[in-house]
Amino acid sequence: MAVDISKYHQIREELAAEGATLVAVSKTKPLADIQELYDLGQRDFGENYVQELVEKQAQLPADIRWHFIGHLQSNKVRYIAPFVHQIHGVDSAKLLREISKQGQKAGRTIDALLQVHIAREETKFGLDADELAGILNGAPEPNVRIRGLMGMASFSDDQSLVRSEFSSLSGLFKQYRDRPNFDSLSMGMSGDYRIALEEGSNLVRIGSLLFGSRN
Ligand SMILES: *Cc1c(COP(=O)(O)O)cnc(C)c1O
Repeated sequence: MAVDISKYHQIREELAAEGATLVAVSKTKPLADIQELYDLGQRDFGENYVQELVEKQAQLPADIRWHFIGHLQSNKVRYIAPFVHQIHGVDSAKLLREISKQGQKAGRTIDALLQVHIAREETKFGLDADELAGILNGAPEPNVRIRGLMGMASFSDDQSLVRSEFSSLSGLFKQYRDRPNFDSLSMGMSGDYRIALEEGSNLVRIGSLLFGSRN
């Protein structure tokens, strides 16, 4: 499936009007598709799998900002620490510590977003409000910069449910907004990004609308 260039331009315009950033989610998609959007000026790309990200990073332009948006296991942080731009799905103090440790080894401070569980589904990863407070009020890790929050709404046609989930995440984000560097609210995907923008998202992660559906 080819990249949908006109959709890309349309989404870029929509996001520009809202002051939001597009992360083009390229998981499972070939290098040529990423290069095609890169050539149009896209620099932020999102990947979910460590090995796939490492392989792609080595073969694509060095100024791509790679967002790791999948569920990251602590023992794999070291593979992406030297280059990753931002890690979206941080859901434990242990993982945060490991990111800091690997950041230190790589001589960098790594940007991270804390993932909050907002969906009705049990299976989604993420912190609840108390766990979030525990991490944000705990001792800071020297080589991690917590830039904000990330969340995924329920996969549902019920727009009011999706909206209320995004709204709850947005409320938490506002609560911590005056912390240093705390400026990113990552919410919204192909199916729900418009609702996410209306609820205050400034970082949307869009895959299938740009690259076509995944197998
Ligand atoms: C795959 C994925 C996306 C993109 O999903 P689409 O529905 O294809 O836009 C966004 N965020 C996360 C965390 C993902 O895993």
